[in-house]
Amino acid sequence: KSKELQGNNFQFYNASMEKSNLRSAKVENGLHKALENNEFVLHYQPQINSRTNKLIGVEALLRWNHPTMGVVSPADFIPVAEETGLIVPIGEWVLRNACKQVKSWHDLGLGPIVVSVNLSARQFEKQDLIELVKDVLAETKLDPSFLELELTENLIIKNTDATLETMVKLRELGIKISIDDFGTGYSSLGYLKNFPINTLKIDRSFVSDVVGDLANAAITNTIITLADNLSLNVIAEGVETEDQMKFLSSKGCFLMQGFMFSPPIKAEDFMEKYFEQDDQELLLN
Ligand code: C2E
Ligand code: MG
Ligand code: MG
Ligand code: MG
Repeated sequence: KSKELQGNNFQFYNASMEKSNLRSAKVENGLHKALENNEFVLHYQPQINSRTNKLIGVEALLRWNHPTMGVVSPADFIPVAEETGLIVPIGEWVLRNACKQVKSWHDLGLGPIVVSVNLSARQFEKQDLIELVKDVLAETKLDPSFLELELTENLIIKNTDATLETMVKLRELGIKISIDDFGTGYSSLGYLKNFPINTLKIDRSFVSDVVGDLANAAITNTIITLADNLSLNVIAEGVETEDQMKFLSSKGCFLMQGFMFSPPIKAEDFMEKYFEQDDQELLLN
């Protein structure tokens, strides 16, 4: 092989780049048709209160069943959807369907649970976000207090008047706002005092090693104390073990979400799992 290519590293880098470009082109092409072809489905992950052992809410998480690629992870297609702007119609579909689903669960007697919907920056910045949320709430008849939108710090980093205004208007509709993946972004903590936030979600990267890693324990502890002092709710993401659950509970964080309770599951499975139980007592596993 020629010297100009500077050995295998260069070629390897090139080849893998090409492969990932190809894949993302395929993802992009597919995304355009995914909505009309009904290839999206929402999965729901329970959120529980470890003190009462009750179901308090669900996070709606998007899944894409591609006809040839199979199930594509959100990590692979959400960034493409964000770049192309397709996240706007896709996100609208998510919001509408998540609200509809949870309203129907309320009507069937599984209440009062909150539904959390992830919102990307592109959606948040759209002029008509407030109208959209208002319309979806009216259409689905979901009580606004049962809808929570999850924003990330990277969205909030802009910390502009427009960001504040949008958040205030959302809160005026009666819905809740949480900060997803809290502690992993690049923003300062100052925004916490300006913005009308309800809940901090401790990122899984801190929770996953909270028992064995002193730094993660310290960070997690600090987030719990911070939330407490600011009168915010706090929920831990990615709780997988009983030790993690015990640690979090001992620090005063009782709201949790994670594989220990359940991975995200299909709506039908969710029904089966949570409707059978009389007063929604959670049977772990
Ligand atoms: P996220 O909002 O932080 O969601 C939590 C992710 O952690 C989910 O991954 C969930 O399956 C996973 N998870 C939950 N508990 C555990 C656990 O105990 N252990 C482990 N290892 N993982 C756990 P998922 O569903 O693959 O979603 C990844 C990300 O994609 C989400 O992170 C969110 O940022 C984004 N996403 C998913 N659905 C949507 C959507 O409808 N709209 C937007 N804008 N983003 C979405
Ligand atoms: Mg989330
Ligand atoms: Mg998260
Ligand atoms: Mg995340």
